[in-house]
Amino acid sequence: MSKRRLFVTTALPYANGNFHIGHIMEYIQADIWVRFQRMQGNQVHFVCADDAHGAPIMIAAEKAGITPQQFVANISSGRKPYLDGFHIGFDNWHSTDGQENHALAKEIYLQLREAGLIEVREIEQFYDPEKGMFLPDRFIKGECPACGAKDQYGDSCESCGAVYSPTEVKNPYSALSGSTPVLKKSDHYFFKLSDPRCISFLKDWTQGLNAEGRHRLQPEVLNKIKEWFVTDESGKSGLGDWDISRDAPYFGIEIPDAPGKYFYVWLDAPIGYLAALKNYLDQKPNQKNVADEVGFEAFLSDPSVEQYHFIGKDITYFHTLFWPAMLHFSGRKTPSSIFVHGFITVSGEKMSKSRGTGIDPLKYLSLGMNPEWLRYYLAAKLSARVEDVDFNPQDFMLRVNSDLVGKYINIASRASNFIHKQFDAQLGSVQPRGEQLLGQLQAAAPTIAKLYEDREFAKALRDIMSLADHVNEFVDQNKPWELAKKEGAIDELHAVCTTCLEAFRYLSIYLKPVLPSLCAQVEVFLKCSPLVFADANTRLGPGHVINDYKHLIQRVDEKVLDKLFELPVETDSKPKPSGAITSAKADSNADVSSGSSDQQNSEAPGGELIAPTIGIEEFAKVDLRIAQIVSCENVEGSTKLLRLMLDIGEGRTRQVFSGIASVYKPEDLVGKLTVMVANLAPRKMKFGVSEGMVLAASHADEKATPGIYILHPWIGAKPGMRIH
Ligand SMILES: [Zn+2]
Repeated sequence: MSKRRLFVTTALPYANGNFHIGHIMEYIQADIWVRFQRMQGNQVHFVCADDAHGAPIMIAAEKAGITPQQFVANISSGRKPYLDGFHIGFDNWHSTDGQENHALAKEIYLQLREAGLIEVREIEQFYDPEKGMFLPDRFIKGECPACGAKDQYGDSCESCGAVYSPTEVKNPYSALSGSTPVLKKSDHYFFKLSDPRCISFLKDWTQGLNAEGRHRLQPEVLNKIKEWFVTDESGKSGLGDWDISRDAPYFGIEIPDAPGKYFYVWLDAPIGYLAALKNYLDQKPNQKNVADEVGFEAFLSDPSVEQYHFIGKDITYFHTLFWPAMLHFSGRKTPSSIFVHGFITVSGEKMSKSRGTGIDPLKYLSLGMNPEWLRYYLAAKLSARVEDVDFNPQDFMLRVNSDLVGKYINIASRASNFIHKQFDAQLGSVQPRGEQLLGQLQAAAPTIAKLYEDREFAKALRDIMSLADHVNEFVDQNKPWELAKKEGAIDELHAVCTTCLEAFRYLSIYLKPVLPSLCAQVEVFLKCSPLVFADANTRLGPGHVINDYKHLIQRVDEKVLDKLFELPVETDSKPKPSGAITSAKADSNADVSSGSSDQQNSEAPGGELIAPTIGIEEFAKVDLRIAQIVSCENVEGSTKLLRLMLDIGEGRTRQVFSGIASVYKPEDLVGKLTVMVANLAPRKMKFGVSEGMVLAASHADEKATPGIYILHPWIGAKPGMRIH
């Protein structure tokens, strides 16, 4: 069988904030599938991008006093710690504001216009006369026409749940300027989804089979879509035409031959999938490590290339109707399938950032929790169905500890000691009854592969853990710890332990898509080349020498898990230490100048006396390191704090809050080097855990002598260097 070639994306995240646990779940789901495909020998291009355009980003950038491009770049620079942290291996991360996307969006639009599917219509919309712009529904507020509740959005009421159009709102006002909006006419561009050609194509496309002979859509998605096709008594389809234009000012792509008109962000967002792929394939082949590469156009239009998009259920409409229609009628190939998943809940509750529930992915990492615990737990709950996945902390701990530590890793730790102590780290022959066990493990490969292929990860892991149960039964029946003490049982001991390690290798092959980092350590331990599914047809074999067993995975510690869910606390009750370590005084300046007045006389440099003398040993306790500011952002709800992500060469980044927002703009700090206290105990602050402190200078009386100055090393200093 020749290898398949796949083009895989996740949905593009909107670039107005950091990733939440819902993003991470989608990326983990797609990443597991991609790793599985690669372990089958298939070629995969796995790409994503920031969804950069639209009114919310334009408005947020304006508030922050920066350009939308800068705003998006700041958000984008914070993506890496999440992706690296959870072992999510996109080949490329691009932006819908990239030049490839501008060009492709215009090209596709012109082809749709050529096909007679674009129409211009005059519509009436609310306009903010003060801001000089048309208002998106979310930026119109007023009284609910149904219940009269005040301060409701222009499209729905949070008080009574009514849904209405913005023009029905009573006493409307602009959420941007507070002024009363006026109705104003404007030409808008529509994609004619109601055109009989579109309806006929979409009916066939959504219900038909793809080139691989599989359904393009999951059954429950298909059922939902059927509702959208329902025609009314006059025979008119339920599919309405799609308004694809927005008036200036708008952060987006200008529509050709239509000055002052921009593509609605949802038109160019999915085109960003293609742009991210083009940007990737246009890079030099040696940068991509892909030998048999063809160009973007040739690859994308090749009928044998399969194209898949992993998305959340909330954006099904865009991906199953607009997107295939845009591709088809612009003369392009359509996706092979759209893989829709549900939402993630935490202990049964929908997450809410404002209430502080949910799981903060960076907090998870900063607590030192193993990312592969989360990968395993989510995989153990994910299926091909559009179901919500619940993260239950107790269940998480039990499942990870019992499956990964108790069932899987335990096999290696029990057997490897004997192999090392008694047999010079060499494997022997398999025990006769062990042959049956290994045969069973080997025979499971096609079934497990099919389950991965079908995205039935939960079922795959259940099968794998059931195999692990058989291996553990084998260990309990043969009791190597008793064989080791028994006279004349040395060969039996060798055969039993060899069987265990051969079995452990099978389990590792099957778990590798979910646990890539753990299995990389297993490959080192077993001294074998990177495991692929075809390795299920081989054995390590007698005489194979293994490496020392090093502890491969920790158990989930309940105390650390509790910290993940600890409610944010206020920090401004803490007394502020003197000196210039800024994160401690982050949200507090009340007591800055309340010290005794004689500390601020002329003999006190910087407004405070020199602290009592200490020895070098005491100074040496403070570990100061050069840190690179990988990303930096304002903290919602705080005017003083910046959230810095710092790299001190540990292979991960640390989150540090610093009270320097009044002096530094986030974008001024990104990429810069500074100095941090690296061994300070992590502190839980109102907005998250601060894992260190950034050093900065300030006068003791900040009111009289304002300014905070962070330290910046001389050229040549590198992240991680210690300051002595
Ligand atoms: Zn209401």
